[in-house]
Amino acid sequence: MEFHSFPMNKVLESRQLEEALARWAGSSCSDCGARLCDHGVLCAVALGLKDRPRCLSCAANGLNRDLSTMSQHLGRWLLGKDCYKKAWILADSTRCEVPCSLVGLFAGCLELDSEDSFANDLSDSSPGGMVPKFPVAQDDSPPHVYDFGDLGCGDLILELRRILRELGPGVVVRVLATDPGAPQDIPAWVRMTGHTLLGAAHPVYDLRKRTDP
Ligand SMILES: [Zn+2]
Ligand SMILES: [Zn+2]
Repeated sequence: MEFHSFPMNKVLESRQLEEALARWAGSSCSDCGARLCDHGVLCAVALGLKDRPRCLSCAANGLNRDLSTMSQHLGRWLLGKDCYKKAWILADSTRCEVPCSLVGLFAGCLELDSEDSFANDLSDSSPGGMVPKFPVAQDDSPPHVYDFGDLGCGDLILELRRILRELGPGVVVRVLATDPGAPQDIPAWVRMTGHTLLGAAHPVYDLRKRTDP
């Protein structure tokens, strides 16, 4: 079993998003060149694409996900989190096309109760309707273990994405994450990006990296 841990820099969640906005707002999708408004940057950060921001449709393309399904999940998840919701509402609309297509796309998500919508989300779209029981299946090799400490909001997902990129397809990873948002963030992101959640018992999450490229 390999064990990795991360420096526990306590970064304010909103500060992290502010920095991402300062860095990327008004920049362009690195695939199609479309200009990104602040909402687009928040979407890219939520998907863990901060190092190379993409518009939503190129992100879905790159992750091999259906755009409308991914957008629904992303909207509910992103606007169900206080830090993102606040940043979303405060996003500089002077950088948006008028009207902003992302604001329109996620409009209904601002009204939803995040807990309820997320619970529904999980039960109606994971195969079998249930999150599998923790721990990992017996036939899986011992997981790589990563301790994320209390990294939260954007940081946790960015680190997770970076790590998975370096591992081979189908590798099983155990994530330790004490952030109170992790029970929502990790399963939602894993599903949005096509990996498999093998089991979850906060603060422990077992997942398998997707096998297709
Ligand atoms: Zn694009
Ligand atoms: Zn916008």
